[in-house]
Amino acid sequence: MAKYTGPVCRLCRREGEKLFLKGERCFTSKCSVERREGAPGQHGRGRQSRSDYKIQLRAKQKVRRSYGVLERKFREYFQKAAKTKGVTGTELLINLERRLDNVVYRLGFGSSRAHARQVVGHGHIRVNGKRVNIPSFAVSIGDVVEVADGARNDVSIVGAMAAGEARSIPEWLTLERNAFRGTVTAYPTREQMPQSYQEQLIVELYSK
Ligand code: SF4
Repeated sequence: MAKYTGPVCRLCRREGEKLFLKGERCFTSKCSVERREGAPGQHGRGRQSRSDYKIQLRAKQKVRRSYGVLERKFREYFQKAAKTKGVTGTELLINLERRLDNVVYRLGFGSSRAHARQVVGHGHIRVNGKRVNIPSFAVSIGDVVEVADGARNDVSIVGAMAAGEARSIPEWLTLERNAFRGTVTAYPTREQMPQSYQEQLIVELYSK
């Protein structure tokens, strides 16, 4: 399972906004974006040229990095979205939201998508009663996603759930917190997905 292993706060600083890649730290004053550390690198604080290409690239990188997906996989998601009848950009985001690691994160079983990916990879998650350890597994409407019995005392999962209690669950998911279980009741609408994403720019980038 290929994944980015470098410093993640650097990715947020590059995009100039919080991508929430580090769990609880993202909600504290230790966050690099909160501390206004600026873009990484020697020229990070300098004036940046903003060609159309760079704007589109940054829009794509922001979404890709938010979901923790490598370039090749991200392009596969785009190609799949382009083949569907819906609006390509929206379909792309829906497919990313349907990833099991994202759903585990959204339900609060992981403190970040990276942690959720680890939880899934360790076999701690069941979908419709069956163990699924593939983070990119695409959930469908009606799927029940739950923490396996043996992992319900896992300190990191319990900690993530406790810390995430104050945060709201997306409307397309329902959570039975005490049962460590969530259900996919719909696919997200565009309004229910992050508004800061500019998926049209991603479509323009990949359509060149
Ligand atoms: Fe991004 Fe979180 Fe690091 Fe802040 S603490 S820069 S939101 S990963």
